Amino acid sequence: MKKSEFKPVIGLEIHAELRTKSKMFCGCANDSDEHHPNVNICQICLGHPGTLPVINQGAVREVIKSGLALNCKILKESKFDRKNYFYPDLPKGYQISQYDKPFCKDGFLKIGDRKIRITRIHLEEDTGRLLHPKGANYSLVDFNRAGIPLMELVTEPDIVSALEAKRFAQELRLILLYLRVSDANMEKGQLRVEANISISLKASKNSKLGTKVEIKNLNSFKAVERAINYEIKRQAEVIRKGKNILQETRGWDEIKQVTFSQRIKEEAQDYRYFPEPDLPPLTFTEEQITEIRSEIPELPQSRRKRLTKEYKLDREVVEFFVQNKSLGEYFEKVVSEFEPHLSRKKLSDLISLATNYIVTDLQGLMKETGVSGEDLLITPENFAEFITLIENKKILRKIAKTVLSEMFKKGADPSHIIEDRGLTQITKEDEIINIVREVISKNKKAVSDLKKGKENVFQFLIGQVMAKTKGRVDPKTASEIIKKELEV
Ligand code: ADP
Ligand code: MG
Ligand code: ZN
Repeated sequence: MKKSEFKPVIGLEIHAELRTKSKMFCGCANDSDEHHPNVNICQICLGHPGTLPVINQGAVREVIKSGLALNCKILKESKFDRKNYFYPDLPKGYQISQYDKPFCKDGFLKIGDRKIRITRIHLEEDTGRLLHPKGANYSLVDFNRAGIPLMELVTEPDIVSALEAKRFAQELRLILLYLRVSDANMEKGQLRVEANISISLKASKNSKLGTKVEIKNLNSFKAVERAINYEIKRQAEVIRKGKNILQETRGWDEIKQVTFSQRIKEEAQDYRYFPEPDLPPLTFTEEQITEIRSEIPELPQSRRKRLTKEYKLDREVVEFFVQNKSLGEYFEKVVSEFEPHLSRKKLSDLISLATNYIVTDLQGLMKETGVSGEDLLITPENFAEFITLIENKKILRKIAKTVLSEMFKKGADPSHIIEDRGLTQITKEDEIINIVREVISKNKKAVSDLKKGKENVFQFLIGQVMAKTKGRVDPKTASEIIKKELEV
């Protein structure tokens, strides 16, 4: 592909619904899984005259916590403002939002080794939802979502590619999940991304940015990447034709994979923002902020570093444990259950065996059954015991699968399962020799074939020993004993 003469500039506006119990300014339930329309509503979130909003303090805390996690400054004094506009999903005729004094300002998030600056994070209320039944000449409105606390984060135009925009959104989502401030499910609309894109000539000395276009309705990370890439190309073609980019809002058509014009962008003054007269300004003391900061758990970036250092895991495994937070925590609990006096070598063997079993077998069982990392029946202690039994060759890999799936179903400890089901490995040499002799005497034809040089028969004999013992003999030992017995 020919290198473009243009460089893209991207800024994101990301909305996340907070997972508070109740809505932003009333006591209605905040439940995005409620499918009966208009049940979580009251006079306040419907904007009836004479009602007054009450601030959900929990939501305010979550925004400040997010801001602190994203390296923002917390304003000592903030306020809510009215953003006035008419739309059928907005019963009050205005949205309570924040204009010039948001809770958080001037943060950043590192993506790889690039710092993407965060302009602001503020708190507002979500709107209702409009439904347009196919073929009908009317629309429906559901106000369950109206008034759900919505956090908005705005970045500086620091992002330089569609891929980087996607990675920013993904990392932000992960942080919100770690903080437990949002469920951030894009399919459910709990995380919504808007991308602002402009392009300018690489060669130009003028540092002025090009005219930006805003793309709305990006409902997946894939859509974020594809829509931005599409838009960069579209803008380049417009400019190459000698035309100007129109400052507008565009949508993303998931089916046609194109952006399309929706409306010419309004300016801030069109909203006639003014301080919300029904709510007091908010102030925060240093102590309050310190207290909120102390609730921030270890975040993905430090966890990546720590897991790498502490357990010497590969990059992909670290990323797996960081993305699958509960399984990562499970892994660490398992490791802490290993005997403390083991040699370094032994411990690192156990760790890598545990890693393999968690990433492949355990995760496979979880996927099959839909059980999450938080609901595992196997205690870390039993899992550690299971791994130790395999490492010490008390159970063979093949049997291990059966044992694990039994543990997974019932949560029982591995030594009991092994005993109950007679799965203990046969290690006594005498016992194995007897079994081998029996197999030899029952397979005379095979043995003579082997002696005539048919080497693949050897595998068959090992298979017979395994079948006879239900896999309770180490195939390597079986092979050695067969060789000895047959003198081949
Ligand atoms: P608006 O008032 O139109 O919403 P803002 O200045 O608040 O515009 O910026 C909204 C978003 O657009 C921010 O993420 C910002 O970084 C980004 N942005 C601003 N100017 C440009 C530009 N020329 N190209 C790309 N993104 C831009
Ligand atoms: Mg905007
Ligand atoms: Zn309500």
